Amino acid sequence: MTNDNQQRQQQPFDIDASVNVESEEAMMFNAALDEQNLDARELPLVVLGEMVIMPHMTVPLQVGQGKSYRAMERAWDEDREVLLIFVSEHEIESYKNGQARDLPRIGVMAKLEEFIKLPDGIVRIVLEGMSRARIVDVTQSEPFYRVRCDLIYDPEVAGAEIEALMDTVKQQVDEFVDYLGEVPQEAIAFVHRIQQPGHLADLVTWGPAFEFSDRLDILNALDPVERLRKAYFILARQLELLKLRQKIQQDTKEVLDQGQREYFLREQMRIIRRELGEDDDSDDPVDELRRKIAELNAPDYVKEQALHEVKRLAQQGMNSPEAGVIRTYVDWIVNLPWGDEEHAEISISEAQKVLDTDHYGLEKVKERILEYLAVRKLAGKKMRSPILCFVGPPGVGKTSLGRSIARALDRKFARTSLGGVRDEAEIRGHRRTYIGAMPGRIIQAMKTAKSNSPVFMLDEIDKVGMDFRGDPTSALLEVLDPEQNNAFSDHYLEIPYDLSKVIFIATANQLEPIPSPLRDRMEIIEIGGYTEDEKIEIARGFLAPKQLEFHGLTAEQLVIDDSALIKIVRGYTREAGVRNLEREIASLCRKVARKVATVQDEDTSESSTVSYTISEADVATYLGPERFSYGLAEEKDEVGVATGVSWTPTGGDVLSIEVLPVQGKGTLHLTGQLGDVMRESAQAAMSYARSRAELFGVDPSYFDEHVIHIHVPEGAVPKDGPSAGITLTTALISAMTGKPVRRDVAMTGEVTLRGKVLGIGGLKEKTLAAHRAGIKTFIMPRENAKDIVELPDKVRQDLHLVPVSSMDEVLKIALHNGF
Ligand code: ADP
Repeated sequence: MTNDNQQRQQQPFDIDASVNVESEEAMMFNAALDEQNLDARELPLVVLGEMVIMPHMTVPLQVGQGKSYRAMERAWDEDREVLLIFVSEHEIESYKNGQARDLPRIGVMAKLEEFIKLPDGIVRIVLEGMSRARIVDVTQSEPFYRVRCDLIYDPEVAGAEIEALMDTVKQQVDEFVDYLGEVPQEAIAFVHRIQQPGHLADLVTWGPAFEFSDRLDILNALDPVERLRKAYFILARQLELLKLRQKIQQDTKEVLDQGQREYFLREQMRIIRRELGEDDDSDDPVDELRRKIAELNAPDYVKEQALHEVKRLAQQGMNSPEAGVIRTYVDWIVNLPWGDEEHAEISISEAQKVLDTDHYGLEKVKERILEYLAVRKLAGKKMRSPILCFVGPPGVGKTSLGRSIARALDRKFARTSLGGVRDEAEIRGHRRTYIGAMPGRIIQAMKTAKSNSPVFMLDEIDKVGMDFRGDPTSALLEVLDPEQNNAFSDHYLEIPYDLSKVIFIATANQLEPIPSPLRDRMEIIEIGGYTEDEKIEIARGFLAPKQLEFHGLTAEQLVIDDSALIKIVRGYTREAGVRNLEREIASLCRKVARKVATVQDEDTSESSTVSYTISEADVATYLGPERFSYGLAEEKDEVGVATGVSWTPTGGDVLSIEVLPVQGKGTLHLTGQLGDVMRESAQAAMSYARSRAELFGVDPSYFDEHVIHIHVPEGAVPKDGPSAGITLTTALISAMTGKPVRRDVAMTGEVTLRGKVLGIGGLKEKTLAAHRAGIKTFIMPRENAKDIVELPDKVRQDLHLVPVSSMDEVLKIALHNGF
């Protein structure tokens, strides 16, 4: 019955047509209402938009002019009662204009508690809802509507089910209050005191859970229990929504909190940075990296890889443990030279000029370099140009030649030393998974060079080792192979790097230790040591001017005369190259610079005229006592002492070999840190001497009665090699026979048991050393005679070179009154 009623009540009726109250339907309607304590009234009509004032509610409002205003004005003068109806926002306009055709059937009879006209035409009113009312008829439409209506009062209802429902709704209200807060305690207490379901339902609609349509729904529900049920469902739905919304808010808040925390920390960091003066004004580091990548002159695959990493960085955040690793990696990528550079055509004459300006002598070496450059110029990319490898002792200018080549080609210069490299990872880097991983030496040097086509020097390629950590040689082969090096793989970088534009030059002290696959790939250019004259020239023309400039001295302020240079070369250095010579000159410059500066302190006008000329006698005052004794190894011709020459990777040197026979039981005693090969040479010398004893006029029993002690001075220096053979034999035979050895003779050569003299290596270094030591005659194997042309002119002029093929020849020259 109630449901039926509601259905009908929701049907709006037409004002103009007005309802036919005598109709059957209307009669049923009225009959039903009669059962509900109807009370008929005729009331002025007030239309309110988007709001519902329920019975028991008191609401203050402001209204403007219009029909509703006029209705209230009249009511205020009469019994202050009005009928409120509630319409939506878009309907209200038409009611105001008096064009409304349909009125809702159910409204609320209300009492005007206040009606105050404000100066600007606005009226403040207070309405108190009294009871529901059903409109029956419109009795007047101008100047305001007046309607006839029946008041509807809720019947009193009770029951356990109703109690339970009311409790539930009250709980819902409590829950709402929990979520919303800020609801006055009295209001809640008031709700809890309500006894009737209809009243409760009406009251809760004032809460924010109810929308206008919900409120209308509640208003139209005449059955109080049904009304409360409706309110319950609306509240339940809204509570659910509220909970959901709160959860979403909570989640969002957490995300926001985290973001805020990060922002806060970053801000602090930025401020700290700025205070420390490290602020580069770059905002977000990720953006900064992205910008750098965008500006990078590099192939696409490089940029893609870098961007991929930056994306990872952005996802993980700057504070993640991996951020540092990723950043370092991206920094490496953006700081490496990837893009091609233009280089001017190689001008051979220009290159020659540069080489000549930077280096004295080295004619053959320069020629080879120029040939190499010429081929590079003509053949260009078509030819696999070989890799140059300079082999020679330290300080002969290998590195500075490399620099000159770079200068001549207008390229950057990169350099890495391979000395002691035993691990492939040193060349190729470690994978990023290693803690503190870095790219290998090649990539590191490329970064420093800031060019993808520098002249790249691989120093000490003869000192590359090999052990369980992998063979660096294979990595080097890849670096040097033009077929492969356009995509060199460094473990750290992970992406290929193009080394094909690089001009590689290797250096080594010795040729032999270079692994043959590497050696095959290189064009070997040997650079020998310098003669004394050459050293003086280099010192005068290159080292001294360079050091003067370096120390801020002018050529007038410091003059080193040739006698001083000779003294430095002889007394303060003993080397194949000029490295120590340069060091000594630098030390001289330092001392003079101090003097000049001191004079300047005292009298500025004088400093420009002050001048120091260093002559032979002054050297010791500046550089201290001589470090090496110059001259022949021995002061006079001695029995049992012969002069040999040794060769080491750092150049040649002269050395004395002493033999002392002492009474005893025919054995051989060797001292002076001799290596196995040298010991065997000594054995062979003994056997030879023994077999020839009679020829030399020595009793063969001599060897049974003597202990032959052979010593090579400078015992701290290890010595080895077969080339001391003839020297050992000469010293031994001198000792046996008592014939002195000529002290101005030096010799080198391997000896066989039968006294044949075999060839040796390093002739140039050895003759240079002998020349340095003031030797007049140099005995050498005949096999090496072909190498004489290679020797410096000065050596050939000053040294009497005697090629020999047998021990007999050696003894004839070396011994006084030889055999
Ligand atoms: P290396 O690399 O062979 O050990 P460096 O190139 O370091 O030798 O040379 C040492 C120093 O000697 C450098 O200052 C270099 O310029 C100088 N030098 C070497 N040879 C010559 C030369 N022929 N002319 C001029 N300076 C030279």
